[in-house]
Amino acid sequence: MLTTPELTRYSRNILLSEVGRKGQEKLKDSIVTVVGAGGLGSPALYYLAAAGIGEIRIIDSDKVDLTNLQRQILYSTSSVNKPKSQEAADVIASLNSNIKIVSHNERLNASNIERIFEGSHLILEGSDNFETKFLVNDACYFLNIPLIIAGILRFEGQVLGIKPKQTFCYRCVFHSPPDADSVPNCAEAGVIGSVAGLVGSIQATESIKYLLGLEQGLFGSILSVDAKTMEFRKISIPKNKTCPLCGDNPSIAKIEDIVLKSCDWE
Ligand SMILES: [Zn+2]
Repeated sequence: MLTTPELTRYSRNILLSEVGRKGQEKLKDSIVTVVGAGGLGSPALYYLAAAGIGEIRIIDSDKVDLTNLQRQILYSTSSVNKPKSQEAADVIASLNSNIKIVSHNERLNASNIERIFEGSHLILEGSDNFETKFLVNDACYFLNIPLIIAGILRFEGQVLGIKPKQTFCYRCVFHSPPDADSVPNCAEAGVIGSVAGLVGSIQATESIKYLLGLEQGLFGSILSVDAKTMEFRKISIPKNKTCPLCGDNPSIAKIEDIVLKSCDWE
């Protein structure tokens, strides 16, 4: 049930025929877990909290760095050197005290991921590393939790919508993690801060639609965003029969830690 202040707070949601009071109650009953409270997690967490998602879980083991402030809009100068998970929780709690916020100042691994994800209706993945992206993809498959993965680099972003067993998964496209150091990250290649905002907001929008049971434009697809040309391309991705996780002859039978191979030719 929504309280009178909640009805007022969420009135611009409730006015939409696609949401209404019932839809807002659905959002209040939802649990969303956000992996990574960085450039993507910042806008996603802010919009999810503002929208009235009943329980939001935040996972990040990093501390705020001065270089983060260019794009990680949950943090201010006074946040530097403080744990991101707690800073993020404090900021979204001050935005909306009607919701439950759980923060995990730990790095996801095969032994803690089930406990942290348990009961989540949806996972948003916005970490900056492939170990976590593959681990989260695998865990969501075994735990049967829908997943929206995103990544950003330079002027570009990608968002993937995955429903375990129904759509393709991250490994259907990328099979196994790349060699360490073979792919540049934002720390090495740079990124436009507002591109993180754009892509994180797409993750939040698709989440809210999923939780409301509305048409889900992203699941089963990859959306590529090129902010240089302002071209958005959505491509439907079929399931891959040779996928090591969800293919016909899978080689991955349980959630395992992901270790990147190092490039030994250096
Ligand atoms: Zn797959």
